[in-house]
Amino acid sequence: MPAPLVEARDLWKVYELGDMRVEALRGVTLSIDAGEAVAVMGASGSGKSTFMNLLGCLDQPTRGSLRFAEHEILEASADERAEIRSREIGFVFQSFNLIPRTSAIENVELPLVYAGVSAVEQESRAREALRAVGLAGREHHTPSQLSGGQQQRVAIARALVNRPRLLLADEPTGNLDTRSSQEIMEIFQRLQRESGITLVVVTHERDIATYLDRVITFRDGEVISDLRQTAVRVEASA
Ligand code: ADP
Ligand code: MG
Repeated sequence: MPAPLVEARDLWKVYELGDMRVEALRGVTLSIDAGEAVAVMGASGSGKSTFMNLLGCLDQPTRGSLRFAEHEILEASADERAEIRSREIGFVFQSFNLIPRTSAIENVELPLVYAGVSAVEQESRAREALRAVGLAGREHHTPSQLSGGQQQRVAIARALVNRPRLLLADEPTGNLDTRSSQEIMEIFQRLQRESGITLVVVTHERDIATYLDRVITFRDGEVISDLRQTAVRVEASA
C-alpha cells in the first residue's frame, strides 16, 4: 500500500481584506500518495493556486488539517514551513522565475547554495540536473539566450536539484506554444516515472492533464471531481 504523502481534511482558506471575505477553499478533503502524478483543474478563481500554495507550505491554512509526510502544516511555524519547503518541495511556475543575466547552471545551483552543499558538488549536481532535462551543452546560456521551453526546463532542473519529494507546478505550460508544452509534459512524465517523485500540476488545459494519472477538479473552492485516468499520452521511447 502506498502511503499518503499529502492529506487534507476539511481544509479551509479564507482571505479577509478589510470587510471583504473570500472563501478560496471551502472544506477540501483529499489525499495524494507518494509517487502519484496529479492534475489540478478548474476555472479561474476556483482555488487551484490557493491549494498549491498550501501544499507548498507557502501559506498557512485557515482551518482544517493538512499533513505533509509527518508534518502538520496548520501547526507549523513560518520557520518550520520554510524548512519543509526547502528540503522537500520543488516549485515550477508559469513565468519560469529564473534569475536574469545569470547562467543556466548558476540558476540551477542556487537551491544547493542555500542548502550549504560544497561548490564541487553544486556544479556536478546542477550539470546532472540540466542533462536530465535535455540541456547538456547549454550550461552557460543565460535565460535570454534560451527559448521559453528551454527556460522552463532550466526551472525544472532547479526544482529537482535538491531531490524533493513533491514537485508542484502551477500552469507550467501557460506561457508556451503547443510543441514546447508537450516537451515539458513529457519531461515531467519521464522524471516522475524514473524518480518516483510526487507531481502535482495545475492546468486549465485538458490536453495537458492527459499526461497525468489523476485529475482533481475544483469549483468555487471545493473539489467537484477526482478521477483516476490512464495517462493516455506516453512519450516516444527515448
Ligand atoms: P485559481 O488559481 O483557481 O485561479 P486562486 O486560488 O488564485 O484561484 O483564487 C481563489 C479565490 O481566492 C479567488 O476568488 C481569488 O480572487 C481569491 N484570492 C486568491 N488569493 C488571494 C489573496 N492573496 N487575497 C485575497 N483573495 C485572494
Ligand atoms: Mg491560479
